[in-house]
Amino acid sequence: MFCKTVWHGLYILPHGDIRLCSIATNSKNELDGNSARDKDGNLMNILTHSIKDIMNSDKHCSVRSLNQSDPKAWSSHCDCCKIREQVTNHDRTHKNKSRRIYLNELISTDDTATEENHIGKASEAGEIDWYPASLDIRFGNLCNQKCIMCSPEFSNLWYDDWHEWTGGRKQFTNGRPVTLIKNEHNKWVAPVELQWYDDPRWWPKFEEMSPHLKHIYVTGGEPMVVPAHDVMLDKLIEGGYAANIVLEYDTNATVVNDKLAERWKHFKMVDIRVSMDAIEDQYELIRSGGKWEKFVKNIEKLKQYEKESNRQIRVSALTTCFQMATAHTILEAEEWCKSIGVHFHIRFLEGAAHHRVLHLPVAAREELIEIYSNSDSEKAKMITQFLISNRTSTISDPKHVHTFVKFMNFLDERRGTNWKTVLPQLADMLTRYNFMP
Ligand code: SF4
Ligand code: SF4
Repeated sequence: MFCKTVWHGLYILPHGDIRLCSIATNSKNELDGNSARDKDGNLMNILTHSIKDIMNSDKHCSVRSLNQSDPKAWSSHCDCCKIREQVTNHDRTHKNKSRRIYLNELISTDDTATEENHIGKASEAGEIDWYPASLDIRFGNLCNQKCIMCSPEFSNLWYDDWHEWTGGRKQFTNGRPVTLIKNEHNKWVAPVELQWYDDPRWWPKFEEMSPHLKHIYVTGGEPMVVPAHDVMLDKLIEGGYAANIVLEYDTNATVVNDKLAERWKHFKMVDIRVSMDAIEDQYELIRSGGKWEKFVKNIEKLKQYEKESNRQIRVSALTTCFQMATAHTILEAEEWCKSIGVHFHIRFLEGAAHHRVLHLPVAAREELIEIYSNSDSEKAKMITQFLISNRTSTISDPKHVHTFVKFMNFLDERRGTNWKTVLPQLADMLTRYNFMP
């Protein structure tokens, strides 16, 4: 299946390495974490490889090659979009359409390679000779939250809890391993590879790409807390490119201010999704560090920008991950979004395994099907379909549910929370299925 991410996109991980796509499946060994490799099999990095070489990584070429030889086939990297298109009945106008369809509409590339004409535009091996129109970028792992389903790869606030939970590990990996060390004051030192954007090789590469860019997707870490994010916007404004570019964000919306909104006004469009997961005390438990009252105020501020800019700046959705902690809370969150007139978007969390709902026993999953099939909300239908289509899934492994309970108890101790009180329906379900100690 043709996708603009594969044909026109470049995705930079928090440590500067390159992958095919931010949502591609990477948990199966044979997919090599969808990491981009060069002709010698080396991992590609934004600092060490040229832009055009990166556009022709082994993964990009193999998917393009498949797209040309069998245009209707899905690459095994793309299960996420494949499943999304199944659960939305291949409806291209669906509010929760796949990222492939969303980007196909959002990125206004010329006709270099489109869904209709891409066959023959790349070599037989899948190589192309153009610059990316779409940049998917993570400026390291600086964040001001430590959400329960996150990790040190994406949030530096996770270091202490992760170090304790893993029994003293100092190396984490999201592809190439990153090693943590402490300084003489017993504080973690920011790993240099996670600050790749401060390297003098970065900005000249960005300037090389800028005239061709039509779309930039920024997420984190938390994009709004990284100074390099503001530098990037200023360079695009000063270079006269901003008006050609759609900015897309996934943000926790903790840092929203008029200075930023002033910068956004120069861009073609600013499409903001805000991570919410759940409401009130459930929000504060899941999105540790976030304060519900502040969150609500910042959403109001964003809506004000939306109104003043006539939707050139827009809050397109508040998002949730369907995971163990939200297994019973989706309908309430959806209702709240409806009450403030913002679309509610759902994603199905794949990892870490202990947060994955599909590891619940079959009977527990049937209970969830019962709950959600009794509602006629849009999200309930998607969840029902997701659970039904995975009814026969063989991946269910109760050990991950035991790990979830242990993990949440561990976080309660570290963070002074009480997950069983905040998520009573989940606690009740896990008690009935004998997962509680
Ligand atoms: S089809 Fe989906 S998963 Fe595959 S590269 Fe495109 S956006 Fe990523
Ligand atoms: S806001 Fe995003 S990056 Fe930060 S901890 Fe939460 S999920 Fe991770």
